[in-house]
Amino acid sequence: MAEVQLRNVTKHWGGFTAVDDLSLTIADHEFLVLLGPSGCGKTTTMRMIAGLSDVSGGEIRIDGRKVNALEPKDRDVAMVFQNYGLYPNLNVYENIRFPLKVRKIDASTHRERVLKAAELVELQDLLERRPRELSGGQRQRVALARAIVREPNVFLMDEPLSNLDAKLRVSTRAQIKNLQHELSVTTVYVTHDQIEAMTLADRVVVMNRGVVQQIGTPMEIYDRPSNTFVAGFIGSPAMNLIEGSLAGGVFKAGDMRVSGLPDDGRDGDVVLGFRAEDAFVADGEEPAELEAAIYSVELQGDATMVTMRVGGELCSIKAAKSFEARIGDPLRVRIPSGICHRFDKKTGARL
Ligand code: ATP
Repeated sequence: MAEVQLRNVTKHWGGFTAVDDLSLTIADHEFLVLLGPSGCGKTTTMRMIAGLSDVSGGEIRIDGRKVNALEPKDRDVAMVFQNYGLYPNLNVYENIRFPLKVRKIDASTHRERVLKAAELVELQDLLERRPRELSGGQRQRVALARAIVREPNVFLMDEPLSNLDAKLRVSTRAQIKNLQHELSVTTVYVTHDQIEAMTLADRVVVMNRGVVQQIGTPMEIYDRPSNTFVAGFIGSPAMNLIEGSLAGGVFKAGDMRVSGLPDDGRDGDVVLGFRAEDAFVADGEEPAELEAAIYSVELQGDATMVTMRVGGELCSIKAAKSFEARIGDPLRVRIPSGICHRFDKKTGARL
């Protein structure tokens, strides 16, 4: 078993706090994704787990054992980075074998282990090639195989797909997901790409400025974001967030009026959130919560994204693929109260 525990882990660089009091238990076999914008402390967290960076405070345990003072090589973790880190003079076979040689693992087992790892990432036909003779996606698979071959307790992956083009990223992502299913090794995966996080993770940790914003399954984070930061970071497009006032269960902002919200004494300035796919174009004369001119229309193939202005903000509605309208046309939109999220305007916290 390889549970990874972070207890009150903190990292300071001089007076700057890159990671602030992070506590988290990553279960054995779990695929955990650290998600957040550039500079939020994801890589720093990963490097502390790997032992490449000291912690300023707190404790890290792998498999129950405190590892704060252990060298990276003694932590039984394997890392995959965005720049692959392959040896240019070694062919694919030798690159994959490298960790076995370094760890002085019985040489008679090398061939079998390398071939098995290569097969898992479908590299068996490229073993003689040097890194420069490979595509970006193939190089990334060599890096994955090199991590797999060690049969570590924990995989640490830092944006392993970020150097790949969009199409390759999608297929390699599926391959990583499949590998995790096959190998079932505890994995910590860093990305700033919310789609990667949603598709790969058992659980996601959303971070901002060194502070954890929410920890949950992809669906929990999508369906019940704990604050406006998470709501605005997850989903494509992100959740519509409209500032306005709430009184007696009725929200008002510009040309938008939503009634039937919980009347639970949260009256005052709030942010109302709703997802583009949960609102829809009103039918005929039925009452609508929003009536405004269309700001932009974007065809997406499977749907049409229609954007409107509410007060000072833009909000998007996902309409049918067949929806036809032009910029400036008036549009009436249904925003049922049941699909709305309420957030505190000052703190951003979910109400
Ligand atoms: P990215 O997605 O851009 O890689 P990240 O979330 O992984 O970002 P980190 O690399 O963990 O972010 O950096 C967190 C913060 O710590 C950043 O503000 C960064 O500037 C700072 N930082 C990282 N390494 C150092 C260092 N060696 N010295 C000083 N500050 C550092």
